[in-house]
Amino acid sequence: MKKINCIACGEEIIDKDTIGINKKLIGEDIKTFYCINCLADYLGCDVQDIFDKIEEFKEEGCKLFS
Ligand SMILES: [Zn+2]
Repeated sequence: MKKINCIACGEEIIDKDTIGINKKLIGEDIKTFYCINCLADYLGCDVQDIFDKIEEFKEEGCKLFS
């Protein structure tokens, strides 16, 4: 699998939940990804809000998190 790094800070993204939430919140066909910290920053919310969202989408059975 191709290595994915955060577009903002360069941190390697290894968690597929992080990739899933990027697609969910920014767009499914995006080519660049943010780590959780930078995604929160980009969206102007807390890191915890992102984790809450991930849990929410998982509970909904979203295919991006299966
Ligand atoms: Zn980052």
